[in-house]
Amino acid sequence: MFELEKMIDEESIKNRVNEISYEINKVYENQELCVICILKGSFLFTSDIVKKLNMPVLLDFMIVSSYKDKTMSDGNVDIVKNIDIDIEGKNVLIIDDIIDTGYTMQEIIRETSKKNPKSISVCALFNKQPRREVNITGDFIGFEIGNEFIVGYGLDYKEKYRNLPYVGKVKQKCKK
Ligand code: IMP
Ligand code: MG
Repeated sequence: MFELEKMIDEESIKNRVNEISYEINKVYENQELCVICILKGSFLFTSDIVKKLNMPVLLDFMIVSSYKDKTMSDGNVDIVKNIDIDIEGKNVLIIDDIIDTGYTMQEIIRETSKKNPKSISVCALFNKQPRREVNITGDFIGFEIGNEFIVGYGLDYKEKYRNLPYVGKVKQKCKK
């Protein structure tokens, strides 16, 4: 049995999304930006971010499978769907829900680099630094969290909870 403990409410997410969008607008002022939304986890986060961007945006999606039904990554990352847009010589911003061990983002960056973009930056709503296993850092991070499993606002546990407008912590409920 699981229970959810509310961790970050809708208002706090909205405020942080506004702050991050402001930072992105400053960095890429008047420059075209290719945004890659990593599905499924960042669908809500990306859609809220891109609505706030001022520069011309080219949007595409990548489907990456790493966790499947587990709460632990084994470093096996599959690119299920790659992008279709041409990013050669362009600035790219990859948006994911969370960087945990870092294997997923490492693979996404490796795959994206093959297409010779001008630059690659990483944006993630959450960063779980204590669990990092590879040297990956985010350029735009929403919240730093510890070694805990969270759901909501795009993040799932066994495909559930993605639709929640807030983020909660999954707690194992003890059987009495
Ligand atoms: P990594 O390869 O270990 O960095 O895992 C990254 C992916 O695992 C993310 O894109 C998420 O889909 C998933 N993930 C990692 N931690 C969590 C969590 O706390 N809740 C939900 N999904 C998570
Ligand atoms: Mg996921």
